[in-house]
Amino acid sequence: MSNTCAIAIDGPSAAGKSTIARRIAGEFGFLYVDTGALYRAIGLAAVRRGKNPKLPQEVLPILPGLELKLAYVDGVQRVFLGGEDVSEAIRTPEMSMAASAVSAIPEVRAFLLGYQRELARTHSVVMDGRDIGTVILPEAKVKIFLTATPERRAARRYQEYLQKGVPAEYDQVLKEILERDANDISRETAPLRQAEDAVLVDSSDMTLEEAVRAIKAIVRERC
Ligand code: C5P
Repeated sequence: MSNTCAIAIDGPSAAGKSTIARRIAGEFGFLYVDTGALYRAIGLAAVRRGKNPKLPQEVLPILPGLELKLAYVDGVQRVFLGGEDVSEAIRTPEMSMAASAVSAIPEVRAFLLGYQRELARTHSVVMDGRDIGTVILPEAKVKIFLTATPERRAARRYQEYLQKGVPAEYDQVLKEILERDANDISRETAPLRQAEDAVLVDSSDMTLEEAVRAIKAIVRERC
């Protein structure tokens, strides 16, 4: 019997999952695992090698040689690819689209599955993604499906890019969010959907504090 507690937070792009998951992890002393970073790192590896991230025949040959790892520096998740810290390089609009493309390839998802489960076996985690409650950790004690309207999500992501100095335009950010939603919902393997036992949190009209408070109350009850 494991003493760990897993909290799964799934939902569409830019719903606030990572901000909220990080806060919850900090409050409860759990490990925050941003699984999107793993798909982004594979997308980055593909693009850097001149491969088309949409094409399985171009992406699959690079998987066996990938040294992909999450590490925690002062409690903050960093992503390493072959020893290089790519945590910043993966946060561009181009890498969002590359991640979305590689994530539809079943072998890519299978490649990452064991690693994600191992993290949850050895730590209490707050794991955010698209398929955590449905596929990766179906036994998670807490499952949250966090969503918001596409316009709210695009506005938040656009602000993030501005703050980081990443060039972006609101209309383009919205277009890419809609495109990624469509990819995530329609793919055959592990599509984005709310697990039957997940609690739906719509953050469209909630402040960050309100969303954190609502989720904390659920975690306290179950972990
Ligand atoms: O969460 P984030 O936006 O960083 O994820 C990047 C992309 O990786 C998403 O658009 C989604 O297609 C994919 N992803 C996924 N399953 C996860 C996490 C992310 O398919 N668990």
